[in-house]
Amino acid sequence: MGKHVYIETYGCQMNEHDSERMLRLLEGVFYSETKEAKEADLILINTCSVREKPEHKVYSALGRFKKLKEEKGTIIGVAGCVAQQEGERLLDRMPYLDMVIGTQAIPALPGLVQKVEALGQRVCEIGFDAEGEYLKTPLPQRPLFKVKSYVTIMQGCDRFCSFCIVPYVRGRERSRPSHEIIEEIRDLAEMGVKEVCLLGQNVNSYGKGLEEEISFPELLHRIDDMEGLHRIRFITSHPADLSEELIQAFTKLKKLCEHIHLPFQSGSSRILKAMHRGYTKESYLEKIDRLKEVCPSIALTADAIVGFPGEEEKDFEETLELLQRVQFDDLFSFKYSPRKGTRAAQYEDHVEEMVKQDRLTILQGIQKEITLQKNQALVGCVEEILVEGQSKQSDRDVTGRTRSNKIVNFEGGLDLVGKMVPIKVLKAYPHSLRGEIVSVQNASICNQRSAIPHRA
Ligand code: SAM
Ligand code: SF4
Repeated sequence: MGKHVYIETYGCQMNEHDSERMLRLLEGVFYSETKEAKEADLILINTCSVREKPEHKVYSALGRFKKLKEEKGTIIGVAGCVAQQEGERLLDRMPYLDMVIGTQAIPALPGLVQKVEALGQRVCEIGFDAEGEYLKTPLPQRPLFKVKSYVTIMQGCDRFCSFCIVPYVRGRERSRPSHEIIEEIRDLAEMGVKEVCLLGQNVNSYGKGLEEEISFPELLHRIDDMEGLHRIRFITSHPADLSEELIQAFTKLKKLCEHIHLPFQSGSSRILKAMHRGYTKESYLEKIDRLKEVCPSIALTADAIVGFPGEEEKDFEETLELLQRVQFDDLFSFKYSPRKGTRAAQYEDHVEEMVKQDRLTILQGIQKEITLQKNQALVGCVEEILVEGQSKQSDRDVTGRTRSNKIVNFEGGLDLVGKMVPIKVLKAYPHSLRGEIVSVQNASICNQRSAIPHRA
């Protein structure tokens, strides 16, 4: 009987994708995935240290799995940002932990597992990989039954925002050569993948340091030409590096979906300066205006932090004003969380926890209303949906996303998975839409660049 691996993933899309890469590599040494930790021979916790909360979750997860180690000798490993940050200290603190796998050590995983299995050794691999091998995604060992897939185009970050741990735990920014990315996407399209999401901490600066001369918009142009692929997304863009050429790509490229995630972090230029973000409220708003001008149907989402050191009531009010002015489709908002080793952690004027919580509650309350209004504005529209699978809500329903990345549930069979379907939006909720299939002939798709009218 084969062996089983259970992976618990915390944090961002990078981590989700890294977990998938770990699974593929482990298939090569005869592990298959289980969704039940108690059935596993190997448990991996893929961690996030961007804020204190996800970091704490790791320690409580490790506590839960300790019993399995004692009862059946399950191998336990920690991967990702906490592994990179803590290294050997994790092994010292947790005597039942077998492996620590840093952010660039994923290719070494099968060898490390075999070492633990054969020799019973505890291992820690957190060196930074000079060859860039860690960026390559292994080919799947079995057919992929997936509609969409992440593709890493770059790793690390050179921007060093004063609150952020990422440059320390993911290393310096590094882009993958374009031919590797194109080959990977071609393979995915041949395996039935219809949508790719290009991943990087700051995709707008893609190409820096490569031998070839290529910018992010040029990479998008090349991917847009690819047969079989229907949709392209990317995440994350840094406002300071968002070029006019990239803004133009939203009208020029048929497959590029009308959605951009553009974190603003704060609406106060004074706080943005202390964050070392490299833009002001005014220049951020200029780029938003330009995006709306060039592509009126574009959906906008962002990240924001409240309670950054020195944030006063008037700074927070500017953040609220920015929210009202832009009318984001959705927002991911966080209380500032001091990260050891970052510059902001050493600032002196930290905001009280209660004030941070109050500001977060106010911000999220306002955004909730805006999101609902944005969703309600789509009622009656026909949208192109890429069907992803069964809905969580009902066996009779399937689920998919609009080009603007909104979740839509509707009645339909699993034969629709992977297809582009015109759906009339009937109802709007805070986090999703409900719709019904309409025939292509009757459909006047709200988004003019929809692929549906061109399909057979
Ligand atoms: N590279 C992206 C960018 O520049 O916007 C963000 C990457 S970070 C993993 C995701 C989000 O976490 C950030 O946009 C920020 O809002 C939030 N974040 C990062 N460090 C944080 C901290 N110390 N406290 C609270 N939120 C933080
Ligand atoms: Fe962190 Fe700033 Fe880099 Fe984003 S751009 S990963 S927030 S340092």
